[in-house]
Amino acid sequence: MGFIAEGNTLNWEDAKKFANYIREHGIIQFLNIYNANKDRSGDQFKWGDEVEYILIEKDQQTYKLKLRANEILDKLIAEEKANPDGVEYLWRPEYGRFMIEGTPGKPYIGLGKQLLTIEESLISRRKNVNRFLKDSEYIMTLVNYPRLGCKDETIPSAQSKGVVAESQFLSDLIINPHFRFSTLTANIRQRRGKNVSINIPMFRDVNTPAYLDQTSYISPSSSREDPTNQPYNIYMDAMGFGMGCCCLQTTFQLSNIEEARTIYDHMAVFAPIMLSLTAASSVFKGYLSDIDARWTVIAQSVDDRTSQELGTQPLSTNKHLINKSRYDSIDYFISRSSSYRSEYNDLDLVYDHEIYQQLIQGGIDTQLAKHFSHLFIRDPLVIYSDKITIDDQLHSDHFENIQSTNWQTVRFKPPTPNSNIGWRVEFRPMEVQLTDFENAAFIVFISLLVKAISELKLNFYIPISKVDQNMKTAHFRDSCRKSKFYFRKNINDNSTNDKIEDEYELMTINEIFNGQEGSDFVGLISMVRKFISTQNFDQDTLNLTNNYLEFISKRASGELLTMSSWTRDFITSHPAYKHDSCVTEEIQTDYMNRCFDIYSKKVKEPKLLGSYYN
Ligand code: ADP
Ligand code: MG
Ligand code: MG
Ligand code: MG
Ligand code: MG
Repeated sequence: MGFIAEGNTLNWEDAKKFANYIREHGIIQFLNIYNANKDRSGDQFKWGDEVEYILIEKDQQTYKLKLRANEILDKLIAEEKANPDGVEYLWRPEYGRFMIEGTPGKPYIGLGKQLLTIEESLISRRKNVNRFLKDSEYIMTLVNYPRLGCKDETIPSAQSKGVVAESQFLSDLIINPHFRFSTLTANIRQRRGKNVSINIPMFRDVNTPAYLDQTSYISPSSSREDPTNQPYNIYMDAMGFGMGCCCLQTTFQLSNIEEARTIYDHMAVFAPIMLSLTAASSVFKGYLSDIDARWTVIAQSVDDRTSQELGTQPLSTNKHLINKSRYDSIDYFISRSSSYRSEYNDLDLVYDHEIYQQLIQGGIDTQLAKHFSHLFIRDPLVIYSDKITIDDQLHSDHFENIQSTNWQTVRFKPPTPNSNIGWRVEFRPMEVQLTDFENAAFIVFISLLVKAISELKLNFYIPISKVDQNMKTAHFRDSCRKSKFYFRKNINDNSTNDKIEDEYELMTINEIFNGQEGSDFVGLISMVRKFISTQNFDQDTLNLTNNYLEFISKRASGELLTMSSWTRDFITSHPAYKHDSCVTEEIQTDYMNRCFDIYSKKVKEPKLLGSYYN
């Protein structure tokens, strides 16, 4: 969730008065960081992952969300405070009162033997939390609790509509009690002028009813206007539906700012591909949906745009017509490498012209100035009343305020003031996987790919509008096996064809990873293998990376199912499933049981994991 401070948060009416002040000082803080760090070079390749978990309680025969992750977190953070340099893992709050996020205690350094430790470290990361759980409690890496938003799915039960989210489905009790999270929720809703409105197509099975059963919600609406009463639509009305989803992120420190800018661009192109390949969320609010991935749910769940910004009313009090939610794919490439062509930036970028001027006058080049003045079209959402006037030389709170609430597919992270941290890129699209084996495989794969891009000078550029199209495609049911994505034909060199349209074509995920028959395109698995062959990995590391690459290659070819496809198969073949898209409590219970049995290796699930997890 990013940056968290303690203190008193302002409600929207008060917060908006400080928006310009926060933006202006945010940019001053960025310029200070930039000037202190623009020439630093030779930083080590340091990196790390973030894994998000949900907390579950087994209650008689059913599983419910347990709303006390904050209590467990208090204990974990107390240990960290007592021994900041010695703890093995760092634990951070997430949006849901049933969520927790873990990272390694210290970033990994370099690539090599370190890779052998990652899966082990993910396993022992869970044990680290388990010390504070009751016998009936478990943490689980499931993107989305399938029946989130149905009545009676939490312990303690949370049955009333709250004043923060004002949701007809989700009680405010599911929100992490730290003020940041309720303030975010309320201020997004108030800025927007109404509840967020998340609309997802329902998977239409033979008996799927056009209209949903309303009895399972805390304050059901009968209004015909309400999107919940539109046919074949899964409607959700609260931030918790999106920010209650768990993801898998990785962050990389690159040697200097230019390398970071280049990695940022190429990983942005790669984001939709990895969303499709890691797809692990196909059930929302107790219904089988027609999408396979969480991203759009979160994007809609934090969309704070006003009707002026959306273009349904003329601009008067707002400044910009805005094409996307604050949570979405990036709009602008920032690299100055030789493979970059300005034509790739083919979106009509919305940016704040005054902020842009402030950046240009501060010595920032046009490309980076556009990037940040684009992020700074947003208002700060959470302002701490005791942290408004701060020293812009020493702190970056106002910069981080805007930066960390632009939740995009990749994030370009400048150094933190007065630290030895360098320029970093965070890769944010991946869906968390059920097992630590899978999570480790994807973490390791992305780290190898990032290094391969730099060392082999790989070039993934396509026009950014095509990346947006890929992002939409990545959500389609079974996109991993069935859809085609725009991808660059020649990823090996910087020689560009005259016509951009000749540089790319539509490919399946299988082709992107495993190569195209009868073409020079060998696929990413081969490229990563080529990179590995240039490294002096010992035999154990070679065996390990080989295993991960084989596994990923099989997910990409469709030989192994994504978690989303496997989940659909499990549900639609469940004896109690009535082919009506409804995931009942009984089906959910069996599904969760199966997930636990797979995780603990009580049963094998070769369709999902092959023979890689026994
Ligand atoms: P956020 O929530 O803002 O994305 P976190 O602090 O939760 O950030 O996670 C940051 C990740 O970056 C962790 O995996 C951490 O190990 C890693 N990391 C920390 N320091 C560095 C560094 N200097 N370079 C690269 N990665 C780092
Ligand atoms: Mg997180
Ligand atoms: Mg975070
Ligand atoms: Mg984090
Ligand atoms: Mg993060």
